[in-house]
Amino acid sequence: MPEPSESNLLIVDDDQMNREILYRHLKNLGYTNITLAESGLTALEIVASQPIDLILLDMMMPVMNGLEMLTHLKKNDQWLVIPVIIISALDDKEMIMDCIQKGAEDYLSKPYDRVLLKARVSACLDKKILHDRAVLNKQKLEIAYEELAISYHELEVAKNELEALSYRDALTGVANRRHFDIVLQREWIAAQREKKYLSLIIFDIDYFKKYNDTYGHLAGDACLSEVAIAASQSLKRPRDTLARYGGEEFAVILPDTDPLGAAFCAEQIRHTIENLKIIHSSSKINPYITVSIGISTFTPHIQIFTSQQLIKEADLALYQAKREGRNRVKVWSING
Ligand code: GH3
Ligand code: MG
Ligand code: MG
Repeated sequence: MPEPSESNLLIVDDDQMNREILYRHLKNLGYTNITLAESGLTALEIVASQPIDLILLDMMMPVMNGLEMLTHLKKNDQWLVIPVIIISALDDKEMIMDCIQKGAEDYLSKPYDRVLLKARVSACLDKKILHDRAVLNKQKLEIAYEELAISYHELEVAKNELEALSYRDALTGVANRRHFDIVLQREWIAAQREKKYLSLIIFDIDYFKKYNDTYGHLAGDACLSEVAIAASQSLKRPRDTLARYGGEEFAVILPDTDPLGAAFCAEQIRHTIENLKIIHSSSKINPYITVSIGISTFTPHIQIFTSQQLIKEADLALYQAKREGRNRVKVWSING
């Protein structure tokens, strides 16, 4: 912020002598940046082209008198804030009142009283400086708010990305075990409340250890990704959730799906994966990669008590499928 003595003052008076007297007075008071205008029109041009902090405005001028110039000035949003001290030769109270009403800050009558001039100019400039500082602070605050909003938005985006990453399996891109647990618990509660079926599929790649041994771990990783994509493409309902359950085991949560529907879905998955025709020369049952699948279903009114039990039953059905020769679907039943 500039010192008050560095403020930009504008003297507007049609009389050269008056301009010079006032100029000298202000110089003596320590003000260095003083511009002179001989008419209201010139003064408005100056105001439009350079920053002005205070105008000392003569009342009696030809063409555009002080009052008219003041009216022009106060109509403009930018110039409105420039304080104006009216200089009047006559002690015309009515005209001074008029000017104050139009927005003049103060008035002085000629001849000047040095002390009064000093006090009024300095009071007006103090106010102007305070105003400018408030405007500057407001601008700074707005910029800070804008930056804060941008940072907040970036943070939100990063948070969402992190959240998405935290429930995806890094290799296959399907839901991870953590997310599987959350979804299963949610669907389990929903199925019980709404008295709806809830089916769970668990499938496991057959002879996958041999696949890794034969083709290497990287090929094994690629195979896992392909299997995950194929399985996800077999699912049709948006609420179905495919997850990597662990290693080369995957799980599918099928809300509102009865055992028959789940078996149909499982068969689709099995068939699609076999049809990928991923060569698996060391598989004992098939020239291609295959999966074995177990299914269990929560049936309304036939109580099973925990979601863990649903997992256990699907797992038992899966091992039944393995025992019976792999590359097949088994639905859990109490009789095995
Ligand atoms: P089964 O037909 O009875 O399921 O036999 P399997 O060989 O598939 O089953 P086993 O549990 O003996 O071996 C699973 C293999 O899966 C062993 C492990 O190295 C492999 N595996 C688990 N996770 C990954 C992985 O992220 N990448 C790769 N490449 N292999 C994995
Ligand atoms: Mg396996
Ligand atoms: Mg396994």
